[in-house]
Amino acid sequence: MADPHTLSYILNHLGEDRESQRGAVTPPIFETSNFAFPTVAAMRAAGQDELNNAFYTRGNNPTVEILRRKLAALERTEDALVFGSGAAAVAAAVLAFVRQGDHVICVQKPYAWTRVLVRDWLPRFGVTVSFVDGGDLAAVEAALTERTRMIVLESPNSLTLELQDLAAIAQLAKARGVLTLCDNSYASPLLQQPAAHGIDLVMHSVTKYLNGHSDVVAGVVCGAQTHIREIFRGPYMTFGAIIGPLEAWLVLRGLRTLAVRMERICASTARIADFLERHPKIARVYYPGNASDPQRELAGADEGARESCRSKSGPPTWPGIERFCDNLKMFLMAVSWGGHESLAWPLAVVIKDGKAESNRTGLPWNLVRLSIGLEDADELIADLQQALARV
Ligand SMILES: *Cc1c(COP(=O)(O)O)cnc(C)c1O
Repeated sequence: MADPHTLSYILNHLGEDRESQRGAVTPPIFETSNFAFPTVAAMRAAGQDELNNAFYTRGNNPTVEILRRKLAALERTEDALVFGSGAAAVAAAVLAFVRQGDHVICVQKPYAWTRVLVRDWLPRFGVTVSFVDGGDLAAVEAALTERTRMIVLESPNSLTLELQDLAAIAQLAKARGVLTLCDNSYASPLLQQPAAHGIDLVMHSVTKYLNGHSDVVAGVVCGAQTHIREIFRGPYMTFGAIIGPLEAWLVLRGLRTLAVRMERICASTARIADFLERHPKIARVYYPGNASDPQRELAGADEGARESCRSKSGPPTWPGIERFCDNLKMFLMAVSWGGHESLAWPLAVVIKDGKAESNRTGLPWNLVRLSIGLEDADELIADLQQALARV
């Protein structure tokens, strides 16, 4: 059953059995690979349900299980599995359900490694793939075939933050027995819960907002018991891309502040987006929270999509982009996003044969992605202002 608890309860208490842990306010790190049993009968009983018992840490571990319960509750799904990376979570969620001869539909500009999985790896196993504009419901419907097994969504998607109508796509899929998977990393479960719109499987790069401190790489898939069991018996146990107990514990610590971090990030992002919108050297701001954004209506309907990660294009020359990024002082230049620190990531960093390579994903190479962190918004704006002045 979906967990009825409040956000505060989930982040601070859910799954933490303090009575059995001498009242420890913070849960212990069960840094152990295996668990001992007093009798054969007890061992047999535990081994029959490795998903829910402490038996061997590749299957389950008490520290990891607390995290599973919290993440499932945040997404209002029955259960969740935590992985050693977001990429492992996407791969497991897809590979658990597709087989030779199946067809998969994917949004046209997903996270880069999701694209590699779907475009390059699935065809190796006899799975055909269509990339569609997820914002175009008719296009999604037209791409469905008798063999379609799964629709892979990412709303908002990477870099251009395009949204999909999750409820409408889920309805289309359900009518045909097609599974839906949504990467919810950008919205976070605070701004959007895809399962509430009928999406079957919800995944996150836990590395980003959920952990929020840029000190762990992790992923999660949330869904109904039946689906989670299938992923567990298949890729989870077979490929073994698990999170360690220490990393799970760090994510539990990160989650304590999820609500306050998101509040701060959303407020700062709205202000910075507004500043960039008005700046004469900026050609376009990609930010679904903007009044001028073509997808504003969908964002409003979803109560959010006000993400920190926003890109802007221009100034339109490669040296200009370099000078802008090189002059940033508060923004660190690094990949990833969703941490405590504000980041700038110029797309034009991808160079091939001495030229900025823009079009692997059909994006302009004068795009700079900004991820807003927890610093003071005025200081961040001042930093952008001085760097733009040097271009
Ligand atoms: C980072 C990211 C991933 C991959 O997660 P890792 O934790 O880096 O493996 C997947 N989807 C989105 C949207 C991401 O930003």
